[in-house]
Amino acid sequence: MINPKQVPALTAATAAGCAAVFFVSCANNPGTRTVSASKTHHSANPLGFVPKIVQNFIPPGNLNRREKRKMKPRYITIHSTANQSASANAEAHVKLLHRAGLGRLSWHFTVDDSSIYQTLPTDEQGQHADYEGPGNRYSLGIEMCENAGNSRSKTMEQTAKLTAHLMKEHNIPINRVVPHQHWRRVRTDGKDFGHKNCPHFLMDDGQPGKKWEAFLKQVRSYL
Ligand SMILES: [Zn+2]
Repeated sequence: MINPKQVPALTAATAAGCAAVFFVSCANNPGTRTVSASKTHHSANPLGFVPKIVQNFIPPGNLNRREKRKMKPRYITIHSTANQSASANAEAHVKLLHRAGLGRLSWHFTVDDSSIYQTLPTDEQGQHADYEGPGNRYSLGIEMCENAGNSRSKTMEQTAKLTAHLMKEHNIPINRVVPHQHWRRVRTDGKDFGHKNCPHFLMDDGQPGKKWEAFLKQVRSYL
């Protein structure tokens, strides 16, 4: 789940609530890009399989991609959207990012049960984890969708495959595959928002436990 407190205008709302507002309004937004012009990207295949990744990068001039800060990824950060709205699938999140619907927030991949979209190059920082902290400076952000009707098990399978693929591609070890919860969110003014319970359905009492270990085991099975 993205951190709504990173966007001052959204501090009173939950991310799910904000996204729900977007999903009501975006259908009528004539500026929303469709994914029909997207490229399907097949990169190196060290695993014996190639996740089908649709690249649809956030426009460079956008508020959420203006700085285009370079990064060599050292970690992979797993999130979930915490948005159960039926329309909140991966494509809808891509459209949300394309119109900077969450202000400066951005991340690299969005996954649901049938698609994987990439919205930032892997050598560019996103804003999804911890303000100016290492989670943003050094990690690739993956959001798992939770929309009603979407298969969670299939979404996790796709996420695990994508994670294994990215680990191989960027030489990232399994102990650097972390939940968003791993990163302490300290804002640049020093305000400490602590650790987020994200992805909530892979945490045990807000901490990585058996569910997280099971996910990592699934990732390992694809290595
Ligand atoms: Zn998160």
